[in-house]
Amino acid sequence: MKNILDFNLEELSAWMLENNESKFRAKQIFQWIYKSSVFNYENMKNISEKTRGNISKELSLYLPNIIKEQKSEKDGTKKLLLKLEDGNIIESVIMQYKYGYSICVSTQVGCRMGCSFCASAIGGMVRNLTPGEIIGQILVAQNNINDRISNVVLMGSGEPLDNFDNVIKFIEILNSKESLYIGARHITMSTCGIVPKIYELADLEYQITLAISLHSPKDDSRADMMPIARKYTIKEIIDSCEYYYNKTKRRISFEYALIKGVNDSKEDALSLSKLLNKFPSHVNLISVNEIKENTYKKSDSLSIEMFKNTLIQNGIETTIRRKMGEDIDGACGQLRRNHMENFS
Ligand code: SF4
Repeated sequence: MKNILDFNLEELSAWMLENNESKFRAKQIFQWIYKSSVFNYENMKNISEKTRGNISKELSLYLPNIIKEQKSEKDGTKKLLLKLEDGNIIESVIMQYKYGYSICVSTQVGCRMGCSFCASAIGGMVRNLTPGEIIGQILVAQNNINDRISNVVLMGSGEPLDNFDNVIKFIEILNSKESLYIGARHITMSTCGIVPKIYELADLEYQITLAISLHSPKDDSRADMMPIARKYTIKEIIDSCEYYYNKTKRRISFEYALIKGVNDSKEDALSLSKLLNKFPSHVNLISVNEIKENTYKKSDSLSIEMFKNTLIQNGIETTIRRKMGEDIDGACGQLRRNHMENFS
């Protein structure tokens, strides 16, 4: 059965007409789901019993199920472990900031990109998430915190550009006035650098923030961490970012996980600053996640400061990203990973 969350408003309106229902029912249902958080057809009181019966026979309204929840004592960050209709497990993270709540959503079950520092890569990719399964993570989260999510980060399990069509449809639904109406400027998409898809995304001219997981200014050391680097060089990625900037005028973010003795030297910082001087950019420095599946160690605080100062002195805006929820199954993808190990 199709999930109604996979429909945009136009598709649902067309479905209503095809099924001898009034087109405006689609708008009413969108309001119930996205504005009033009603996830049961029975409770959509302005829709007749007959119509509700017709819809529920053909379209499910399925939300991921929370099977585990962890809350950080330090900063209130929540990790939700979610079960999908077919039994697959994903995770989402809700972070509380001064301006409101932000959610980091997954776009795939697992990931096939194989980055060596990432818990989501272990076990490979199982399948893509549908648009409804991605938006479902936000609906479940809003219900859980009983508040509105204002920012969305596509940085959980999965490579968003490897699930391009579903992710784009998700963004369109998310953006729509009749749905959650979260503006493109409040959405950040992270990618390991699938160059042709960056061009494709740029051509859509969305105002979303593009965040590149770079992690090294050198192709060879990047390839040791990220297999995708064997397919696309750093130069190709930077060229695609320049194109993205020219199309959208959005500053590009670069994620850089500092690993002791691997990518945290002054020379690395100088090479990185030379790479990023073609367009407005911003570097987010993070400490690598120490997961038991690899031997990476976090850089010490002196090296982190030196790296940051070198970038800033060379004109690159840089911040050291505060780690949220460090006291709860730390690394992205790790909660799911731990769950899978306990139940396999
Ligand atoms: S870092 Fe991102 S792209 Fe790389 S394996 Fe993890 S989820 Fe996939």
